[in-house]
Amino acid sequence: MDGDLPYEREIPADRWLGSLLAGAVGDALGAPVEFLSIEEIRGRFGEAGATGYEEAYGGRGRITDDTQMTLFTVEAMIRAHLGRRLMFFEQQPASVIQHAYQRWYHTQGTPWHQAGGSYAMEAEPDGWLIRERGLYERRAPGATVLTALKGFAAGADRGTLSHRINDSKGCGAVMRAAPCALWSEDPLDAFVVAAQSGALTHGHPSGYLAAGVLAFLVHRLLDGVSLPAALTEVRGELVTWDDSAETLKSLDDAVDLAERGRPTPELLAKELGGGWVGEEALAIGVCAALVSDTLADGLLLAVNHSGDSDSTGSICGNLLGAVHGTAAIPADWLAELELRDVIERLGRDALVEFSAVNSLEQAGWRERYPAW
Ligand SMILES: [Mg+2]
Repeated sequence: MDGDLPYEREIPADRWLGSLLAGAVGDALGAPVEFLSIEEIRGRFGEAGATGYEEAYGGRGRITDDTQMTLFTVEAMIRAHLGRRLMFFEQQPASVIQHAYQRWYHTQGTPWHQAGGSYAMEAEPDGWLIRERGLYERRAPGATVLTALKGFAAGADRGTLSHRINDSKGCGAVMRAAPCALWSEDPLDAFVVAAQSGALTHGHPSGYLAAGVLAFLVHRLLDGVSLPAALTEVRGELVTWDDSAETLKSLDDAVDLAERGRPTPELLAKELGGGWVGEEALAIGVCAALVSDTLADGLLLAVNHSGDSDSTGSICGNLLGAVHGTAAIPADWLAELELRDVIERLGRDALVEFSAVNSLEQAGWRERYPAW
């Protein structure tokens, strides 16, 4: 049986990489304006706002915690899927995702023996990603996420959909959830895994349900479904979940606003909020993706507003990248993107793991991706 789990779905390589890279580009476009109002953005960069990368964290094209954590989600998908193929145990991905996020927590300055919790049996964290020194940067990490991961490291139980560890609905759950689209051929499985990944740090339904919605949407977009059709489908799923009214309303508001044409930054904030919480960040990313003519246009709309610009840019990028692929990302934005090589290497490895090709035959695979 081992190594023989069927995975029939063929993931379109270029649009998967597009989703990952455009998410990172949106994050990097938003980073310089994350904490600025639209008046401050215009005052600094002109009436059109930021029209490309600006300086943040000591350079242009710098990614933030959104992309860092998204990369650890990709890594967790690969490791959990490998574990499932090897039939090590009845593996649920949430444990593997928690392990990955404890490794990210380590990159934020906590020694591994304190950051790893029950996963810190070895002196050093494992896998290749954690050895990328470029990840060891603090880029305004979310307080809820840090507190939750610190709590787990200190022995607290894992947050789940039934054991909610706090009442936070910050956008820290949805901003990192897109790669859960890989998990299964069934988009409902992707929704559930993403919601579970969200509940590791965010106990409010609007926090973890927004994560589920994003993974579902990216899954359907990768399968070639249009964004409006995918939104109709995910709405049908969302209504079946407890406490989903708030997330549903935000999604409906996003669609309604998009139908009125391209919104001004003021209207975006008035109708959809600032994006600091999960359902609002999702709504802004969705609305910008719906109304934009091009991927670049969508990303700029998603970051130029009074709100959590790096997260809304990242979410919009995950969606539009899955629609348009890598060629739609302006070449100069890709060229200046921090850790582009790491993002691409990880993205390509995910394609190997989630394909009919037996990744176990790749040299050193199990050292690069320990299956737990
Ligand atoms: Mg950020």
